[in-house]
Amino acid sequence: MNAEIICVGTELLLGNIVNTNAAFIAERISRLGIECYNQCVIGDNMDRCLSQLKESSSRSDIIILSGGLGPTEDDMTKEAVAKFTKLPLVEDAESRRSIEEYFAKRGIEPTENNWKQALIPKGAKAVPNANGTAPGIILETKNCTYILLPGPPIELEAMFDSQIMPYLQGLGAGVIFSRTVKIVGVGESKAETMIMDMIDAQSNPTIATYAKTGEVHIRVTAFGSDEKEAKKLVKPVVKELKARFGNSVYAAEDEISLEQSVVELLASNKMTLSTVESCTGGLISATIVSVPGASDVLKCGFVTYSNKAKRKLVGVKKGTLDKYGAVSKQTATEMAKGGAATSKSDVCISVTGLAGPGGGSAEKPVGLVYIGCSVKGEIKVKEFHFSGDRNKIRALSVKNALILARECILEYISKVNFG
Ligand code: ATP
Ligand code: MG
Repeated sequence: MNAEIICVGTELLLGNIVNTNAAFIAERISRLGIECYNQCVIGDNMDRCLSQLKESSSRSDIIILSGGLGPTEDDMTKEAVAKFTKLPLVEDAESRRSIEEYFAKRGIEPTENNWKQALIPKGAKAVPNANGTAPGIILETKNCTYILLPGPPIELEAMFDSQIMPYLQGLGAGVIFSRTVKIVGVGESKAETMIMDMIDAQSNPTIATYAKTGEVHIRVTAFGSDEKEAKKLVKPVVKELKARFGNSVYAAEDEISLEQSVVELLASNKMTLSTVESCTGGLISATIVSVPGASDVLKCGFVTYSNKAKRKLVGVKKGTLDKYGAVSKQTATEMAKGGAATSKSDVCISVTGLAGPGGGSAEKPVGLVYIGCSVKGEIKVKEFHFSGDRNKIRALSVKNALILARECILEYISKVNFG
């Protein structure tokens, strides 16, 4: 079964609004295994709408239109579909009643053109609109089905999920289910090589790899007659991926974020965390705090931007700063050590680096970042050379700090458990 999406609205063509409806609809129908062959935008113009309907109906089983169902003159989607299918517009009693109710509730007098919204092509079904007055419309014809939806996203999205999804599901297209296995510490090409046999053999589920900042995501997507069947197909593939990538997998069945996985890892091992940040200026602790339940693990976050703060707050030695500089392995080590001691936390992440644009030298260029992690007194520091602007370098520092923390905690746990 294939579908296409036509978004109606001159505002969209002029770039005044972003076409979020198309993305929303496309994402939803792909879940149902309906293939989307085309998306387009047309202005509020009868002739162009008619010619688009001609083209689309010649190739698609389902045509989904958004926008232009309102009461005003420029709203003409429904009129175009009725004209194209040669069906008269007739009043839908239920829609008229709900429009009356909508206005009565708000104590507003409807204007004559509001009743226009109760008109639907003869033989079509009106779809109630919980958040507005214009009903949606489903019109089944011999060679294709037209689904007309109101433009405002708040109306369209609610209507789609509550009524259009069940309708489309009833057409028997099936269901798509997918899971994303998230991996750190393995590059995309290496990850792909490690699962090349699975990629070569794939049919249902399909396997696709995506490179994210510092991570690789592997999406496993299955098509089944219902969700249960699709989930059953995905399960063994996710299990196999977890077996191949081991500890590099930080999320699989649950699709959690990296920061969530770090918080969960700390919480499940009853460990506490502190951070000592220079160039990230608190971004790491803010990222941790964005996870619900962070209060169970995060004790405190130091922003030690100046040398003085590094010395005063976490006890970095003056000699270390003088000899090696603020951006150095030695300083990162002392920051992690001092942060853990001062806050009495089990784990402490430290970051010191040059985010630029100024301040770089041949020896210490912009993008040079040292990230440290202390776990129960054992400290590891890594040197990074990031590229990009100031905010990109800071974001990469946060990401890699979380990756390093996860690595160090896992190493500690396995050492404790297995000697
Ligand atoms: P109304 O009854 O509000 O006139 P309508 O069904 O006639 O609704 P339009 O007039 O086409 O819809 O659009 C109404 C508003 O909905 C737009 O001003 C815009 O804010 C939003 N909208 C329309 N189409 C889209 C779209 N494709 N993506 C995101 N927003 C949209
Ligand atoms: Mg309108």
